[in-house]
Amino acid sequence: MTELAIVGAGVAGCALAAQLRRQGWCGSINLLEIGRGPGGRAATRRSRRDPALAINHGAPLFNITGSPPPGLLAPLQQGEWIQPFTGAIQELDGAGSGFHAGTLWQGAGGMEQLSRGLLALADAATPEAGETQLRCGTLVRRLEPLPGGEGWRLHGEDDALLQECRWLVLSGTLLAHPRCRAVFGWPEVPLQAAAEALGDAQLLEAAARLAAIDSTASSNLLLTLPAELAAAWLALPWRVLQLSTAAQERWGLRRVSLQPLADGRCAVVAESSPAFATAHRHVYGSRSAAAQLLGAAPDPTQETATIEALQHALEQVVGLSCTGADADAQLMRWGAAFPLAAGTGTATAGLPADLQLCPASRIGFCGDAIAGPGFGRVEGALRSAEALAAQLLPLL
Ligand SMILES: Cc1cc2nc3c(=O)[nH]c(=O)nc-3n(C[C@H](O)[C@H](O)[C@H](O)COP(=O)(O)OP(=O)(O)OC[C@H]3O[C@@H](n4cnc5c(N)ncnc54)[C@H](O)[C@@H]3O)c2cc1C
Repeated sequence: MTELAIVGAGVAGCALAAQLRRQGWCGSINLLEIGRGPGGRAATRRSRRDPALAINHGAPLFNITGSPPPGLLAPLQQGEWIQPFTGAIQELDGAGSGFHAGTLWQGAGGMEQLSRGLLALADAATPEAGETQLRCGTLVRRLEPLPGGEGWRLHGEDDALLQECRWLVLSGTLLAHPRCRAVFGWPEVPLQAAAEALGDAQLLEAAARLAAIDSTASSNLLLTLPAELAAAWLALPWRVLQLSTAAQERWGLRRVSLQPLADGRCAVVAESSPAFATAHRHVYGSRSAAAQLLGAAPDPTQETATIEALQHALEQVVGLSCTGADADAQLMRWGAAFPLAAGTGTATAGLPADLQLCPASRIGFCGDAIAGPGFGRVEGALRSAEALAAQLLPLL
């Protein structure tokens, strides 16, 4: 039996492993992740056939607004896993987005380096503990509390036993939110079912609060432009273009980022507005994780139409062509891109900190859906992991 299982190897799950190890905890840690590698919504898309390709298809950068910064930031920078983001940011129509206040950072060589760096920090901090185990391509489907509150059994697809653990942390909201029923056709919400079986009032409250956190979606156009086309794009005076609310309504785009590749090509990621994503909510990219790992069936006709609509909007906004013989276009749909504050949009949004750990049931929560500074951003994912580690350490 492993001491601690963490569901999800995004920023928060990896940061929790790093923070526990840096505090000297040597128990066994297993991370279980659906995706092909760590990173979650701050991951980098790569291709075996095209080694120079690296597209930050979720967050292209992150900002730290709170003071003091998360404690993990300095060792990540010292280890050269992250670096200051120095590209120019332009705001179309002078919009303020909140994503660009404070100090700006990016993964050094791709956003996934942030999560990889956190795992490296974990392993370097306590070599005697052995490597943190990361199991990718693994969907956790069901949470079974062990009798007597002794821990948890995690089950995967076909109810196969994946893991037994003394303590469990969920770093994403998928297992707690009713959207899992719509996405996978599951009859129940796994966390809710487990909380009812345990009858732990604190966990029932946490499960209800997590289930109430809705998210906005984002349909992202991922372009890879050959060097001939890329030159004009890379000559633009910005690396990130943020559109105002009015511009988003007009074009259906929220933000565009230019990501130079080492061989002269350039990736362009156009993030849709929430309204565009809602209108195209059934259109998944055929190369997206939803299609490849979760079994969602892509519709090629709708996918092509959605890509063309985003390409057209992008060309109108930027004034440059993004289509050509060697240009590659993909669609990446994030069903739950940004957690929403229930109704208000205030800093009190998300799972309250006093529900982050439910000791009687040996379960905790971290991720950008936890209330506090940085809610809905990488900063919140880092801070929530550091806060949970502090609460967990005396109990582990
Ligand atoms: C398009 C886009 C642009 C963004 N831009 C910015 C930005 O500019 N600045 C910023 O700060 N933030 C930005 N964000 C938000 C940022 O990416 C997130 O706040 C951050 O990455 C959240 O990290 P996390 O670890 O909390 O969650 P996640 O990254 O979602 O990690 C959760 C992980 O758990 C895995 N998982 C979930 N359920 C299961 C299961 N049942 N079994 C196995 N694995 C599971 C998921 O695959 C995922 O890897 C952006 C997000 C998107 C989508």
